Amino acid sequence: MTATVHGFQTQVAKLLDLLANSLYSNKEVFLRELISNASDAIDKLHFMSLTNQDLVKDDPVFHIRIRADKDAGTLTISDNGLGMTLDEANSHLGTIAESGTEEFMKKLTGDAARDSQLIGQFGVGFYSSFIVADRVTVLSRSVNAKENEGVRWESTGSGTFESENIERKQRGTDVILHLKDSCKEFLEEWTLREAITKYSDHISVPVELWAEKFDAPEKKEGEDKESKPKSHFEWEQVNDAKALWTRNPKEVKDDEYKEFYKHLTHDYQDPLCWAHNKVEGSLEYTSLLYIPKTAPWDLYTRQNQHGLKLFVQRVFIMDKAEAFLPTYLRFVSGLVDTNALPLNISRELLQESAVTRKLKKALTKRALQMIGKLASDKDKYAEFWGQFGNCLKEGPVEDYDNRDEVLKLLRFASTKDGTSAQSVSLDDYIGRMVKGQDKIYYLTADSYEAAANSPYIENLKKKGIEVLLMWERIDEWLMGNISSYKDKEFVSASASDLKLSDELGGKEEKERKEASAKENKDLIERFKKALGDKVKGVEVSTRLTDSPSCVITDGNRMMTSQMKRLLEASGQKLPDEKYTLEINPDHPLVKKAYAEPDETRFEKWAEVIYEQALLSDQGGLKDPASFVKNLNSLLLG
Ligand code: ADP
Repeated sequence: MTATVHGFQTQVAKLLDLLANSLYSNKEVFLRELISNASDAIDKLHFMSLTNQDLVKDDPVFHIRIRADKDAGTLTISDNGLGMTLDEANSHLGTIAESGTEEFMKKLTGDAARDSQLIGQFGVGFYSSFIVADRVTVLSRSVNAKENEGVRWESTGSGTFESENIERKQRGTDVILHLKDSCKEFLEEWTLREAITKYSDHISVPVELWAEKFDAPEKKEGEDKESKPKSHFEWEQVNDAKALWTRNPKEVKDDEYKEFYKHLTHDYQDPLCWAHNKVEGSLEYTSLLYIPKTAPWDLYTRQNQHGLKLFVQRVFIMDKAEAFLPTYLRFVSGLVDTNALPLNISRELLQESAVTRKLKKALTKRALQMIGKLASDKDKYAEFWGQFGNCLKEGPVEDYDNRDEVLKLLRFASTKDGTSAQSVSLDDYIGRMVKGQDKIYYLTADSYEAAANSPYIENLKKKGIEVLLMWERIDEWLMGNISSYKDKEFVSASASDLKLSDELGGKEEKERKEASAKENKDLIERFKKALGDKVKGVEVSTRLTDSPSCVITDGNRMMTSQMKRLLEASGQKLPDEKYTLEINPDHPLVKKAYAEPDETRFEKWAEVIYEQALLSDQGGLKDPASFVKNLNSLLLG
């Protein structure tokens, strides 16, 4: 059989181009990736062999072997794991299976420093071989395949690869790297030994190096010249092969946790933080949870796959087991190892198991504790919040049991800060409430600027009452679904009733409003008549000080235009929402309008005053042209 030539998936070709340049400064990472792949292949076969011992009976001892051949200039990484069939090699080593690759590739800029960060998050796995090799040969045989169904796959990393069936005696995979001249240091034993130890000490499979051993010199009578010592090569295990999480947390160094994280996740960056817990008692488990530095690009898409690695009695069972953490903690990665589940547990059974539910509860607490601990470091937490804040905001609604716990971890911008940085916690807010304040005021808008300059908060600001400012898509939904924190009710600053306490002038304000309504009865009536059924009603306002008008709905919470666009985009037909117009009778513009004797011109005034309130609330109008026309005609006098 002759080899067939295949073109790489476009994304792979692009990635390979980038790789050789952008990851060059960190080239030894190829070893981590290949050792990780080998260890995954062994984990998978180990798992299968639990129910079918025959699979491994001809070669029962799992190991990864690394051998340099100085004459040939090659470095070979071998494993006796699962192996690949020809079809598997063609698809696994020719495409990138991860969803969202397209979007990811679009983000690449050509700027090496930036791109290498991005590639780091993406995890390039096998393709990192081409950082150090100008040709890569893979020989493999699937555990399910016959001797004549072995595979040879080969590529120089430039656009195409070739592959064919070959004879192969043993199962498993050899990755043969034909090293570039500039990377020949990876043929040196001490370089290899150092890198391998770094990348494999924490994994449970033994990693063996083809190492030179010097024989004791033979002493010959009468010869005084030292003869050159003889040597031979043999396999030497160079890693501890003790799964990191089984060790005592006190004895594991930070660097080891970091390396293990990279092995687990294929992330090139260090993690932001981690939590390692060994729990004994009625429910025994060990968990090692990590938070990455950077959010994966698909964190908010439906394709996002997440979850912990599951081990039962240290045996790898499955990847991305979602059942152990709630969705809003999907950015947490890591593993859980337990004795409380059977080895043959399936994904389906896992979902239904009572043990899983208990573990989920415990691990959720662990994750929240880890985030809580992170919050004590303001800078680190800001970094975390920027990446995962919006994800965490799903928590108070998704996870009723931990609602207050999650709310405590949220951060907002506020009128006190004067910046769009989200750094105010609800506890900060409550801690500095003014005398007599018993509500938490917030405002959702389309942007930070729109919120900070909104007419709704003028009066609250004047009274020195802090308002939390929100403009993320999710905020509206979040605030619509929670009502209080530590017995303090959330009140939207755009609500028709701000529920100000008497001490804060609530009663006074009510009286003032009533008095003002009486006083301005004619003005209100005139506006009502002019606007007709465009509005639900017209009222005098006590919340406005600098603006002539604003719009409110009856409910406590308004639907921002962002929310509307979102719903419209999802194909929902929205009922035309009618607003109540609030008017500030003391504003010069309102006074000027009221002084207009001509009723047709007054109608234009009324419309402009109403529509500018809509505009500042929603950042847009249904019929902007008519607004501009009215405005211009008034400006011309
Ligand atoms: P990842 O490991 O993130 O899936 P890689 O590019 O490193 O991405 O590998 C792609 C796929 O190729 C793996 O998921 C696996 O199916 C297969 N593969 C790679 N190396 C091996 C190996 N040593 N043994 C068996 N399969 C492998």
